[in-house]
Amino acid sequence: WTDGTLLDAENSLTELAALAETAGSQVLEGLIQRRNRPDPATYIGRGKVDDLSSVVLSAGADTVICDGELSPSQLRNLEQRTKVKVVDRTALILDIFAQHAKSKEGRAQVELAQLEYLLPRLRGWGETLSRQTGGSGRGGGAGGGVGVRGPGETKLETDRRRIRHRIARLRREIKAMRTVRETKRARRTRNAVPAVAIAGYTNAGKSSLLNRLTGAGVLVEDALFATLDPTTRRSTTSDGRVYTLSDTVGFVRHLPHQIVEAFRSTLEEVAEADLVVHVVDGTHPDPEEQVRAVREVLGEVGADRLPELLVVNKTDAADEETLLRLKRLWPDAVFVSAHNGRGIDDLRETIERRLPRPAVELRVVLP
Ligand code: GDP
Repeated sequence: WTDGTLLDAENSLTELAALAETAGSQVLEGLIQRRNRPDPATYIGRGKVDDLSSVVLSAGADTVICDGELSPSQLRNLEQRTKVKVVDRTALILDIFAQHAKSKEGRAQVELAQLEYLLPRLRGWGETLSRQTGGSGRGGGAGGGVGVRGPGETKLETDRRRIRHRIARLRREIKAMRTVRETKRARRTRNAVPAVAIAGYTNAGKSSLLNRLTGAGVLVEDALFATLDPTTRRSTTSDGRVYTLSDTVGFVRHLPHQIVEAFRSTLEEVAEADLVVHVVDGTHPDPEEQVRAVREVLGEVGADRLPELLVVNKTDAADEETLLRLKRLWPDAVFVSAHNGRGIDDLRETIERRLPRPAVELRVVLP
């Protein structure tokens, strides 16, 4: 469902399809419904569920992915009606993060986010479980508070307790890992090595640009979130000054709150940078919206006050009209193609120019 414009909904659905493909699914059909608010029981309207069921049947789909966060009961109702697995946007993104997290800290953060997502949802699953166990153990018919106090409930409580312990432990571990990272960062600050963070919407070409700029062998995938853990490379300016370039986690619109929190440390790294190179995909149907979304997230981690260098990438594949429009809109942006290398020298020079200059030390020698 959508309460926005149809174009918004279509863009969001295109993004969802790209996310699903990243997670390894094959996308068959898209379905949009305009409503003022989601249906409390079934998310989309009850009539629309019938349409959905017939689409599922005719397309031979085995999964329905919803572009939003479903309540446990909406999820259960939709699964019962469509007879296939139902996944929401948050679960999908968490799944992708889990597939791609590489560092120890990244993996711990993903697991924490997954458990936090799971914990309130255990209820729906537990209710079904306790009803089943209660039914067979007590001859059925147990309703209300009595029926749910079966062995399933005990099991559910145990599961919940175990998950809470694990969450607490992960939080402690992440805190310790963060201290280590901050120490490293403090060292960098002491050495006064300027840091450049490459930020941008997911799939904008951040890894490709980092490779172009430094020749580093960073994994490039035609997949969203190929980059999860910040990859830092050293580079040198033409006059011999050293600086670092870091690839950062890709942004998406409506980032689930579990992920924003879990990945704050990764994003905080951006806030420590001296310059943010903000990469925009010139072939995207709505680059302005992408820029707006990324700036919003940068604002959330306090990185919106940093100097920003806008870079429009994929100029080899973008259409001329769009590029002209974007040039007028962002006169200071650098236009590049990570693929054919066009504009890369210009980008390198612009980055060097915008790096902070080391403070000039003035020594007065007294006799
Ligand atoms: P990231 O998620 O922002 O790190 O993006 P990647 O660097 O992994 O690139 C995402 C996709 O865009 C990959 O399929 C790249 O091959 C493609 N890509 C990156 N740069 C360019 C470019 O300049 N032109 C074109 N046509 N495709 C590009």
